[in-house]
Amino acid sequence: MLDEKSAAKGLTALAEYREKVKSGEIIPTKALNPEEKAKANPTSMKYAIRAKCWDCACGQKEEIKLCTITDCSLYNFRPYKMSGVVV
Ligand code: SF4
Repeated sequence: MLDEKSAAKGLTALAEYREKVKSGEIIPTKALNPEEKAKANPTSMKYAIRAKCWDCACGQKEEIKLCTITDCSLYNFRPYKMSGVVV
């Protein structure tokens, strides 16, 4: 259980965060598409792969999930694939 001082500190931090989001100083990661995330994190291999698949599938998650291009070098690393299902 939080004491009043900690709860007030948390609420203040949340209010500051929301103000920064509102002003555009902070862009929430969930608001970005995979290409934007890759640009924001240029050293992330995970985001690079997601961005490539996102571009290849014209932004359609379902197309990435159902991708049948097994000779693509990113095939085994693509996002949104169904685990345990061999395509
Ligand atoms: S794994 Fe499929 S969706 Fe991803 S880049 Fe290769 S062909 Fe495109």
